[in-house]
Amino acid sequence: MRLKDKVAIVTGGGSGIGAAICNCFAQQGASVVVTDINLAGAQNVVDQIIKSGGNAMAVEQDVVDEQRWSEVIAITLSEFGGLDVLVNNAGIGMRGSVESTTLAEWQRTQSINLDSVFLGTQQAVRAMKQNGGSIINISSIEGIVGEATCAAYNASKGGVRIFTKSAALHCANEGYRIRVNSIHPGFIATPLVIAAIESLPASEAEQLSAQLLAKIPFGELGNPEDIANGALFLASDESRYMTGSELVIDGGYTAQ
Ligand code: NAD
Repeated sequence: MRLKDKVAIVTGGGSGIGAAICNCFAQQGASVVVTDINLAGAQNVVDQIIKSGGNAMAVEQDVVDEQRWSEVIAITLSEFGGLDVLVNNAGIGMRGSVESTTLAEWQRTQSINLDSVFLGTQQAVRAMKQNGGSIINISSIEGIVGEATCAAYNASKGGVRIFTKSAALHCANEGYRIRVNSIHPGFIATPLVIAAIESLPASEAEQLSAQLLAKIPFGELGNPEDIANGALFLASDESRYMTGSELVIDGGYTAQ
């Protein structure tokens, strides 16, 4: 059990990558607080974990709400007695170029994908600074390389990438034993990616899927579990000497 006796919060834990991380952490012995704006999705994941003999609790959370962050941390401390790991995973996709993106779309993307990571990291650092911990921020390959149709998404995920390094250095400078790292998934088969493809007319969707697969050296989408395994390593003490780093899990996409 690589996370025995650890307590973890995973945002956006009700679907896709977040759900896989919750399941993986619980299997490895962590008590998991599964938060999501979609409480039913989070509860479903918790029910599966409990059925498999794990320990978890569902909490409704909109990650852009600062007050709610304080409440989620307080619930975690009172119900599970500590906080060792935070995974800032909740996020949305947003397609649009610099010309087509509206200010409202831009601001919504920065708010849900980037402001949330700032709020969660700030509150987790305050909660973890006595005993240490691991903060894992889910960025994207889109936080490393640009894409013409991802203006707002690129900016938000690039922000997560470099903010992670700032927070990591602050914690190290202060002597807190808190590691802060980012994960950069490539294209992973989750509702977020599937919905983006299905929102297009059928012929365009087919073309986009083919173009996407042609750009991935492994020639296939990743699974949520591929990302969960990376998060497991960063959550566990095996990554004790890693902070401010970027874990890329992308089937070779950014190696080109
Ligand atoms: P998903 O849509 O399957 O899951 C996202 C979850 O976040 C959902 O349960 C949703 O309800 C929740 N959520 C959305 N807005 C929220 C809010 N304001 N407050 C709380 N919860 C909220 O998506 P996914 O593919 O599993 O993506 C998870 C993370 O991984 C995102 O940050 C995404 O940007 C990132 N990512 C995904 C891929 C991919 O290919 N799927 C690639 C790179 C990065």
